[in-house]
Formats: sequence, structure tokens, C-alpha cells
Amino acid sequence: MAEVPSIFRKEEVQRLLRALRDGKIEVLEPKFDGEHSISYPAAADVTGASAEELESILNELSSLGVLSSSVVDNVAICLTCGSFRLMIQARCLTCGSPNLLRGVMIEHLACGHLDLEENFKKGERLICPRCGKTLKTIGVDYRRPGVLYRCLSCGGVSPNPRKRYTCTSGHSFDEGDLVIREVKSYKLNPAKRALIEEETVEFKPALEKFSDIWRFEVPALIKGQSGVEHEFPFALWPNEEASGGKPDVVAELSTHEKEVNLTQVLAFQAKAADVEASRKIFMAMPKLDAKGRLLSSNYGMHVVEAKTARELHEKVANVLQQIASKGKRRP
Ligand SMILES: [Zn+2]
Ligand SMILES: [Zn+2]
Ligand SMILES: [Zn+2]
Repeated sequence: MAEVPSIFRKEEVQRLLRALRDGKIEVLEPKFDGEHSISYPAAADVTGASAEELESILNELSSLGVLSSSVVDNVAICLTCGSFRLMIQARCLTCGSPNLLRGVMIEHLACGHLDLEENFKKGERLICPRCGKTLKTIGVDYRRPGVLYRCLSCGGVSPNPRKRYTCTSGHSFDEGDLVIREVKSYKLNPAKRALIEEETVEFKPALEKFSDIWRFEVPALIKGQSGVEHEFPFALWPNEEASGGKPDVVAELSTHEKEVNLTQVLAFQAKAADVEASRKIFMAMPKLDAKGRLLSSNYGMHVVEAKTARELHEKVANVLQQIASKGKRRP
């Protein structure tokens, strides 16, 4: 069997891939969040993962070709800390002074004087403050070069001052040191659909084989004695029993990059006891660690370990077959 990248065993990745597979999410659209992170609200909703975790998941999934990405935007970020909350400060191009005046300028072509429009205005007329002549025809004896910056320290005038950027952590740098970060959207790569189907767990087909014995819910939300509602990947009730009764079988699926540990077994035991389930199937991908296995056996759980969804489906069907045939032997 080909080596399965461990990322597929992450619970968050499973949730995300299932949502994409089922069309619940078409495109993962980015949103600017806080100071440094680009979030993907749709993905965050289904996975519960943080923006940082999602960023690494999306990067890895797109490098595996499972997701295809397209650049939808780019933002200037601080070269030191990556923040995109930047303050822009205008400085004189010539002397670096921040003492700049911005305004609509007029240039008196006859004498070359360039100044703010308000300095030319004398009532209805425009009079040059340097040579004292009246400005007559635009384009002939004067022109309007537009909005300019005049330095009050050195008198220099320019259309674009030097820009100094400062992030919220106080890192300061010039325009030339700006780093541009690409902002991407992601969607499922249709060419990888088969792989995704294989790596995303689907219980229905396995459970349907036992529909003459049990009715099932996938996923199952069951209210326990405590009043708390618990979610299970699936649960089975005897067919003859009216709805609302205690489940015959509840299952839990835990995935981990290496080994699922006993805390997951404990949590499942508590949930299963609260809903008063008769039988418990604990599914671990890829496997359960030794302590977890011992504990699950003490709790009388059926343990299913699988590396892929397909393997899991087969093993779950086998366990249900065992439970069904034991059930038949009971008086
Ligand atoms: Zn910074
Ligand atoms: Zn003049
Ligand atoms: Zn200056």
C-alpha cells in the first residue's frame, strides 16, 4: 500500500475534506484577521482549527495537489514580523523631514514659482506671491500640477514624498523593503477526488448492510442522562425499538498523526456511559497506543484500527457482523 501522508489522519483535515467533498464548501475564501493572519472562515467553522493551523493545513494540502489555489490578492507586510497593519509616514524626499504640507499647487510659468493655490488666491484673482503678477490663462502663464507635497524644512516640492512604514510592533522600514504576501483562495482539485473519497471516512455504506437489524444515524446526536447532547460518528438502534430509546451501538473515531492515546478512550467511555449504550466501537486512525488499547479492553470496547478510510469501512463492517451474530445467539 502506498504511504498515506499523515496529514489525512488529522481530524481537522478530515472535517475540511468532507465539507469540500460534499460541496458544503465550494471555495475557501480568505479574510484578513488580526494583524498577521489571513483566515478562512468557512474552513475555520468546519474544522475548529486556528488560523495558523489552517494555514499550514492549506499549504500542505495544496502542495499535495489535493487543493488548487489561486492568488486573489496581495498585501504589503512588515519584513520583520509579517504584520500587515502598517502605518505610512510621509517624509521629504530631499531632507527626510516629516514637516510636509500637502495641497493643490499652482506653478507660475512666467517666474517659475510653485506654491499652494491658497497662497496665490487674492479674492477672485490669482496673484503670484513671488513676482506679484496676476495669473491669466491656465496652460499659458500658469499651470496646476495637482496635489503636491511641500517640505517646510527645506522648501522642496514633490508629487510623492518618501514613504516610511511602521508596523504595530514598531518595526520601521522604507518602501523598498516592503514584502508582498500573496493571499490565496483554495478549492478541491477535481483530479484528486478519488484520493479524497478514499481518505474521508463514510460509514453509511457499511451500516446499510445491517439495516435489517439496526437503524442508524450518521452522525448521531444523542442526549445523555446528564442532559448533555453527545455527538458520535454513528450510532445504531435496534430496528424494533421506537426512536428515542437507548442506542445499541455507539462509535467514536479518533485520528492522530502517530497514535491515538487513552484520553480519547476515556472521553468516549464517558459519552457512551452517559447515553447508556450497550456496545461501543472505538475507531482509531492509524492506531491506538498500548495504554489506550488496554483501557479500551477494560471498558469492553471493540477497537478498530485503520490507516485509510477504506480499511476502516471494511473493519467496521466486520465488527458489526460479529456483534450481529453474537446478538442472534442471545436468548
Ligand atoms: Zn513588524
Ligand atoms: Zn510669479
Ligand atoms: Zn525637505
